[in-house]
Amino acid sequence: MDVVLVIIFLVIIVALSLVIWWQHKNYVKPVKDIKQAAQRIYDGDFSVRIFIKNKNETGSVCALINKIADQYLALQQKLEDKSKELERTTKSLDNFAYVVSHDLKAPFNSIKSIAELLRMEYNDKFDESGRELLHFIDIKVNEMDKLLVGILQYSRVRQSEEKVEPVDLNQEINEVINEIKPPANVQVEIKNPLPTVHIEKDLIHKVFQNLVENAVKYSNKTEGHIDIGSEKHDNLYTFYVSDNGKGIDPKYFEKIFNIFYSIQEPDTEPTGSGVGLAIVKKIIEYKGGQVWVDSEVKKGSTFYFTLPANGSH
Ligand code: ADP
Repeated sequence: MDVVLVIIFLVIIVALSLVIWWQHKNYVKPVKDIKQAAQRIYDGDFSVRIFIKNKNETGSVCALINKIADQYLALQQKLEDKSKELERTTKSLDNFAYVVSHDLKAPFNSIKSIAELLRMEYNDKFDESGRELLHFIDIKVNEMDKLLVGILQYSRVRQSEEKVEPVDLNQEINEVINEIKPPANVQVEIKNPLPTVHIEKDLIHKVFQNLVENAVKYSNKTEGHIDIGSEKHDNLYTFYVSDNGKGIDPKYFEKIFNIFYSIQEPDTEPTGSGVGLAIVKKIIEYKGGQVWVDSEVKKGSTFYFTLPANGSH
């Protein structure tokens, strides 16, 4: 009797083990495989594929996951092709802008010299309205000069010949202020010690140069204040250049970053070429940051830009 019981017990154990093994082989293991594969796809590894052993439900889930991975891989490839195409188009547009502005420089310089010669040699031979016309030529020649320099700089942003290196921004901003030489009624204050960032020196110089130049140019108070500072959050620096100048209507907040966009005041001569902020935007986005403005008309403007703290290239 005891022997029979033992045999029955053993048979039950073996049967149970077989059921557990079968369950594990057909359901537990495939579910684990599916979970692992789904995690790898979620992490961005679209090369993962699950070996389909069974033609049951888990097998069809595995086949579906493989198809999703196939589709993601194809999409990723398409995206890479498109971004390479975009890169090529941007490069050829930059080259086109560079060649056009570079080649226009020579005939333009001749026109500039002829106008200068006319003014120097023949000024007293012109009557009042002739001299006024000469004056207009001067103004337009200056505008054209700024435009050509601006387009040249804009087209060269991604072709900076300088290397990425640690740049102490305290030193850089002092160089910029010394170059701009703000008038005595405009105080520039560095609100906190600025960091050292890894970037091409000429690029970050141009960013601060354009922002500080604008803050000075659009200052309209008897006592002008320009504040410069930075903050660090996680892996990102946020810089600001703030002024108490004429301010900007919110409807222009986006437009002013477009190339050649200047806010034209009625009955006044244009003050710039509308290239400065476009250059700032191109440089900052190239380095993986963002730029934006906050402003109130008559009260002042604050331009912000971010840069990754560990450099972007
Ligand atoms: P530009 O100054 O040569 O016109 P920018 O691209 O530097 O070109 O600036 C575009 C426009 O944004 C300017 O025409 C001006 O109206 C406005 N702007 C830029 N900076 C300031 C500022 N700090 N305060 C007020 N307006 C500004």
